[in-house]
Amino acid sequence: MANKKQDYEGDKALAEVLFDSIGDGAVTTDEFGNVTRINPTAQSILGYSEKEALGKWFPKLCTAFDESGETIPLIDRPVTRAFVTGNIISEKIHYKTKAGNLIPVSMTISPIMVNGQPVGCIEIFRDISREYEIDKMKSDFISLASHQLRTPLSAIKTYSHMLADGFMGPLSPRQNKSLKTIIAATNRMNETIGTLLNITRIESGSIIVTKKPVAINQIIEEVISEHQLSVTEKKQSIKLNKSKDDLKIISDSVVLKEIIGNLVSNAVKYTPSNGKITIDVSTRDKTLVVAVRDTGMGIPEAYKDNIFTKFFRGENVIRQETSGTGLGLYLVKGLVNELGGNVWFESTEGKGSTFYLSLPLLPQAIRTNKSVS
Ligand code: ADP
Repeated sequence: MANKKQDYEGDKALAEVLFDSIGDGAVTTDEFGNVTRINPTAQSILGYSEKEALGKWFPKLCTAFDESGETIPLIDRPVTRAFVTGNIISEKIHYKTKAGNLIPVSMTISPIMVNGQPVGCIEIFRDISREYEIDKMKSDFISLASHQLRTPLSAIKTYSHMLADGFMGPLSPRQNKSLKTIIAATNRMNETIGTLLNITRIESGSIIVTKKPVAINQIIEEVISEHQLSVTEKKQSIKLNKSKDDLKIISDSVVLKEIIGNLVSNAVKYTPSNGKITIDVSTRDKTLVVAVRDTGMGIPEAYKDNIFTKFFRGENVIRQETSGTGLGLYLVKGLVNELGGNVWFESTEGKGSTFYLSLPLLPQAIRTNKSVS
């Protein structure tokens, strides 16, 4: 008996030493979210001593903030979700230290299960301030470079259009053909710069959406007319099945146009000549659903999980269609999130794809006054 007790005490002491030796911050909480253990690294990151932290309700001791600096409500705190769902959660959030500083952390939180029941949680987290700084420098650089590229590009664009419109004298058919190639390439470059700028805005949390009443049918008609030239060149057909009434939603028209424009541009790009593109606008419960259907090459099963990942391009499309960055759908996903909507797809390889966009129909609070350009 004495030996068993000694073994137990020995195991306990070893577990404590192991816990304290973890190089990342480590905190354990009981079923009520009160701190039961906090290792020295966590104490040094958060600025609380063991005495100050033990027994305290962790969500109150340490306020958490999301990417945009908004307080994460208790119900959405990873610790709450891990406890309620029994799942391991890995996330990047910001913690407020005792000194009042916000520090970005990368954390993994796991429920502690005893006989299948969660009895608390263990959280391991790492201060990622340095990675954040580097990321920010990278975003600032892309943003600066993109802005600088736009100025010379608009000069190329203006003069190309003046030449094409005959303001500088007549052009031979060969010159005209070359000019068309220059204009198409400049348009593509302009779009890529716009995409890069928008991605840096989303990633840095500086994108601002201005929500106003938007006539959805009209937005889609504008997108279609912008793609009409490519559609005609590929001998495709494009059709809009409007919603019954002249549906208006509260959203940001510029962001919405960017989202639908990307989906339509992909449909055109990844559908062979003579293919069909159809856009359906409908309502389902309290949501607006826009479906962009194509009869194109479709998405192989193996790629379906990666489609919205940054820089991902399917091998099947790379073989046939070389232009693309793999950033379009990553941007779409980020923008749809900003609008409080959803985006998903159904696709059969060789037959076609349908990309769905859903947005809330109920008027939403107008958030701020920023815009995407
Ligand atoms: P990009 O078009 O520049 O490659 P996207 O992010 O817009 O990048 O799309 C990512 C990938 O998703 C594409 O490379 C392609 O493999 C696939 N994809 C997107 N839309 C379609 C579509 N309508 N039909 C078939 N594949 C598509």
